[in-house]
Amino acid sequence: MPVAAARSTPTSAVSADQGRAPLTSLGGVGPALAETLGRLGLRTVQDLWFHLPLRYEDRTRVMPLADLRPGDRAQVEGIVDFVERGFRFRPQLKVIIGDESGGVLLLRFFHFRKSQVDQLGKGTRLLCFGEVRQGPQGLEMVHPQYQRIDPDEPVVVDERLTPVYPTTEGLGPRRLAGVVSRALAHLPADDRLELIPGDLPLPSGMTSLRDALLYVHRPPPDVDLRQLGEGHHPAQKRLAFEELLTQHLTLRRMRAAVKKRKAPALKSAGTLRERLLASLPFPLTGAQSRVSKEVARDLARPHPMLRLVQGDVGSGKTVVAALAAVAAVEAGYQVALMAPTELLAEQHLRNFRAWLEPLGLTVEWLAGKVQGRARKNALAHASEGTAHVVVGTHALMQEGVAFQRLGLVIVDEQHRFGVHQRLALRDKGAEGDLIPHQLVLTATPIPRTLAMSAYADLDVSSIDELPPGRTPVQTVALSNERRYDVMERIHAACMQGRQVYWVCTLIEESEQLDAQAAEVAHAELTAALPDLSVGLIHGRMKPKEKQAIMDAFKAGELAVLVATTVIEVGVDVPNASLMVIENSERLGLAQLHQLRGRVGRGSVASNCVLLYQTPLSRLAKERLQVMRETNDGFRIAEKDLELRGPGEVLGTRQTGQLQFRIADLARDAHLMPDVQRVAEAMMKDHPDRCERLIARWVGDAARYVDA
Ligand code: ADP
Ligand code: MG
Repeated sequence: MPVAAARSTPTSAVSADQGRAPLTSLGGVGPALAETLGRLGLRTVQDLWFHLPLRYEDRTRVMPLADLRPGDRAQVEGIVDFVERGFRFRPQLKVIIGDESGGVLLLRFFHFRKSQVDQLGKGTRLLCFGEVRQGPQGLEMVHPQYQRIDPDEPVVVDERLTPVYPTTEGLGPRRLAGVVSRALAHLPADDRLELIPGDLPLPSGMTSLRDALLYVHRPPPDVDLRQLGEGHHPAQKRLAFEELLTQHLTLRRMRAAVKKRKAPALKSAGTLRERLLASLPFPLTGAQSRVSKEVARDLARPHPMLRLVQGDVGSGKTVVAALAAVAAVEAGYQVALMAPTELLAEQHLRNFRAWLEPLGLTVEWLAGKVQGRARKNALAHASEGTAHVVVGTHALMQEGVAFQRLGLVIVDEQHRFGVHQRLALRDKGAEGDLIPHQLVLTATPIPRTLAMSAYADLDVSSIDELPPGRTPVQTVALSNERRYDVMERIHAACMQGRQVYWVCTLIEESEQLDAQAAEVAHAELTAALPDLSVGLIHGRMKPKEKQAIMDAFKAGELAVLVATTVIEVGVDVPNASLMVIENSERLGLAQLHQLRGRVGRGSVASNCVLLYQTPLSRLAKERLQVMRETNDGFRIAEKDLELRGPGEVLGTRQTGQLQFRIADLARDAHLMPDVQRVAEAMMKDHPDRCERLIARWVGDAARYVDA
């Protein structure tokens, strides 16, 4: 194991950076190759040092054919036993090899030349590398890399693992590996390479940066394959740490830039707030009250608020948003409230109208389907400033929508919007150099470590308490074969005056198929439960129809509501206390949790039945198990992160920001407290080094951050 070299002190010179030389300064890189490399974002020698392998191929040994398993990427050797050239559907070349282990393997080619066929005659000895998969007749490799070898010579294997780099069309893996290798010859000593000041201790068990780079580009022959594959080697940790640090610095810089900008200081006497609170049928929970105060404090400052309020489904985020809205209105500004679906936006509209109109405020509605005169009026009210609050979907961000004095933007269910969309809405309010405050609500709790990284550009408040009187939802998972038992259970529940959701989940990504599945289920339930009124709601219905159905369900006129996942977010019917989710094995934890949050809103004990199709995959089994065990959104989110990884958990948020080269938020989350500590110190004492880290890891992509 390499010994950690001393890292540079803040005083040592780090200039004269060879790393900044253009690629053409390397032998063998002409303008054409430099241009190809440019397509990968590689422009300087340093860019190549930090162009890290995606994975490794093991050509250090030859696997006996009998030991191969589907999914292996392996090097094998064998004698051609059978060759067939087929033309039935498309040209195809099949070659079967066998070895001493008694195993056989089919090599399948769809593109090949005649000369190739001639070289692969029976008895030829081949060395191949490729991915093993299960074919119709046994194990096979499709388009393996191969070479013919002399029948009598021993096989020569590589000494080291072969790194596989991200590449682009027209650049072969070997050529790219060669260029990286040449760049590495110019890797300077550690004191010239390190940008993290030596007086800031890194977490223990990491190699020096130079050793780390040499290790991941050229793993030594005695490498611990499992450790390397899982990313736990000290070299990988060192690089992951630096990458996470850089990403954190990038987001912090973005936040600092926003905070430097000006926003209207929304100060008010709090009269509307008091009147709203007095009109509510319940007191705020401690958590709502605390978060609401944090928001009010931010709003009163002359710099833009960027606050994420996270709270489990049913924790009462809407009231907190409404309180922020009235503060802005009392200060003389308008508020825009944006939700990801029409159904959710409409529900906000109803809540806001019910709460704010009695206070004398106007609440306007602007969604994609608002057309003609209604749309014209809504637009006029927004731009003339006569609408105090405008509620809508992403239609709020379209061109032609303007506000007179937009002071606050509220975005619900933020994980569905990308960061760019948020910026677009924010810019709607940009008036001279004033930009509006931003409040983001999310029901997807974000594990703390992930929040530190992915949301470092936002302040985060948590509503970590549910209103009193809620009873946890009891959850069971049942195979679909039991669906008729479940229908009996529905009948019994409805006889006791309870109401029921029957949720049909997405069949592929098609609203149409989804709606069809719901129609089928609706017919089935109507037939099975003739004495109950069964309603149907899906995304392809007109907003008016949807509203009528929701109203009927709310009023208790419908006992059962068959729905697609359109009800996932925000729908609130406290008397509904049983939910059945079909094909629950297809959904992720976050979505299941969201759906289940539609029940358990009243004081009666609620139940959730997860119907699944057998056989269950391991992952699906684990998910259903988690759902049965806990109702705690934070625990579910932690588990989700573990099972699916951060990209999925964060949804669109990841694009452009969380594509890591080596770090993995689920695996490396434990590094975040140290990342935060080092970042804090570097921003304070070494801003120049922060910039250089960003240039090193983010390079060109950093530009949009300032946009
Ligand atoms: P979410 O955080 O999921 O958006 P909502 O804002 O829709 O939650 O609130 C869920 C339900 O709880 C609503 O019916 C709301 O009126 C109610 N509610 C909110 N705050 C309280 C409270 N402090 N006490 C009792 N009920 C509350
Ligand atoms: Mg909500």
